[in-house]
Amino acid sequence: MSESTKKNTDKKTVKGRTSGQFRCLYCFKRITAPPGAKSTTCPHCGYAWRISWFSPGEPRIRGPVWENNEAMTRKIMAESKGGSK
Ligand SMILES: [Zn+2]
Repeated sequence: MSESTKKNTDKKTVKGRTSGQFRCLYCFKRITAPPGAKSTTCPHCGYAWRISWFSPGEPRIRGPVWENNEAMTRKIMAESKGGSK
């Protein structure tokens, strides 16, 4: 009778250090921000966030980067219109 307990290895990395990481409020995936960065863009959904540092290695989302999103929205709209060249 063989008893397999393979599930232990999966849960190991849940805790531990999350240096410079925070969760994207748009797609809820983890983003790693460069230390001291004032803003970063989520590589998963492309949403840009303004961040502040609660402590070194502990970023907090302040809010979306509206400028950036506006530019992105314009680009998307321009592309969806079928090119105005
Ligand atoms: Zn995201």
